[in-house]
Amino acid sequence: MTDNFTTTQTGTPVASDEFSLTSGANGTTALHDRYLVEKLASFNRERVPERNPHAKGGGAFGEFEVTEDVSQYTRAAVFQPGAKAETLIRFSSVAGEQGSPDTWRDVRGFSLRFYTTEGNLDIVGNNTPTFFIRDGIKFPDFIHSQKRLGASGLRDADMQWDFWTLSPESAHQVTYLMGDRGLSNSWRELNGYGSHTYQWVNADGERFWVKYHFMSQQGVVRMDAAEAERIAGADADYYRRDLYNAIAEGNFPKWDVYVQVMPYEEAKNYRFNPFDLTKTWSKKDYPRIKVGTFTLNRNPQNFFAEIEQAAFSPGNQVPGTGISPDKMLMARVFSYPDAQRHRIGTNYNQLPVNQPHAAEVRNYMHEGAMQFLFNPADARVYAPNSYGGPAADAERGIEATWENDGELVRSAYTLHAEDDDFGQAGTLYRDVFNDEEKARFIDTLVGQYGGLTVDRIKERFFQYWTNVDAGLGATLRERVGA
Ligand code: NDP
Repeated sequence: MTDNFTTTQTGTPVASDEFSLTSGANGTTALHDRYLVEKLASFNRERVPERNPHAKGGGAFGEFEVTEDVSQYTRAAVFQPGAKAETLIRFSSVAGEQGSPDTWRDVRGFSLRFYTTEGNLDIVGNNTPTFFIRDGIKFPDFIHSQKRLGASGLRDADMQWDFWTLSPESAHQVTYLMGDRGLSNSWRELNGYGSHTYQWVNADGERFWVKYHFMSQQGVVRMDAAEAERIAGADADYYRRDLYNAIAEGNFPKWDVYVQVMPYEEAKNYRFNPFDLTKTWSKKDYPRIKVGTFTLNRNPQNFFAEIEQAAFSPGNQVPGTGISPDKMLMARVFSYPDAQRHRIGTNYNQLPVNQPHAAEVRNYMHEGAMQFLFNPADARVYAPNSYGGPAADAERGIEATWENDGELVRSAYTLHAEDDDFGQAGTLYRDVFNDEEKARFIDTLVGQYGGLTVDRIKERFFQYWTNVDAGLGATLRERVGA
């Protein structure tokens, strides 16, 4: 007899983990071996659907501390001087599946949660300050072009470049991706960006547009392309291992949190549309303002429970923060929770990793699959009620707002003075990349061109890069002998 005995899922002691119940030592297996059936059925259900994009990732917990005073811009408790909050981060690749190699060239997801006293605040960004498209209605098409062909199940360069070259708004992000920042040395050594424009509201109700920047104290370190290819074969989980081991060894990575702040009224006439996700705000116009620092200091106890089931949403905002009229962001506010309802289930926010850790949940939503938190037995579950249940409070629930008075249309954003698809991509190539970065970028593009087989896509490839920079287009034609 042992005191540490195995049980069924309902607590009954089990007799064996070695032998199933059979008629005689050599006979058929009994269906009423409920422990065998339960064990196999549970095993069959161990996986939840992987995320469609951003399937492969890793993450950790940490602590955020405000070191500066940005209270003139936001009333959010988490950003007040000296405030501290528990954090959760999930890094990821975009295109590959769960088992895909970490070191394939890709954008890296950078999803950050602050467990604040006013509820969870999620900034769900990337290691890029921009994105490939500017309207959420194109997102499924974009991801389809980066995934696999129907017939062969293979990823396909023609398909990727077909989409990109037919979607000129992608040029800025593709330039960033094909540059050194598309191949990071580790998750620790990259910057994160909220990418979208968000809103902050201060205690007086004054509104500001903000962009979040998370600057790695480890620096931004690139990986050599040949080394990345070697590691992709030798250790597909290279980034996940690096982060886990660093934290386990007490080598805690840190990021400084900054915001660019734009006074509310300036959005109307800024030279670039400040809500267009394919654009950055120049730091010459809106310098970074430091907020604080966060440190990752705790590995998950269980990867599946705490990272695979971590359900971030850019809609998780708190009083004093909010979203903006960025069409990608508004689409994501629907899409992210919807993905988690599908992957994990209706009550995914009841899981320990997704519950608020520093605030309480009080509302009248209830039941559904896997409910395990519930209101007290005598609580009435409707609003309004006269039994002392929670009531919504407009003074606490400060929301981000903006003017919105127009006809319903399907249209591109109206252009601001310097808006176009290729300008900022050209600036990045000409003015930000140094000579060595330019050389590596061109090598990468030559390699990409080598994967193309369709003539019209090859021609659009040259045109696309010529639009970014005429000299670049000519160099590419010369390099590939076209
Ligand atoms: P700045 O000269 O002030 O900023 C240039 C920024 O480029 C740097 O601060 C750095 O961002 C980033 N950078 C440096 N090397 C690379 C590289 N190899 N690949 C990608 N990015 C790199 O000018 P502006 O703010 O006026 O921006 C000019 C261009 O810089 C933009 O068109 C955009 O392409 C790019 N950029 C701008 C950012 C912004 O938020 N304004 C952020 C990142 C890039 P960091 O300090 O964040 O590491």
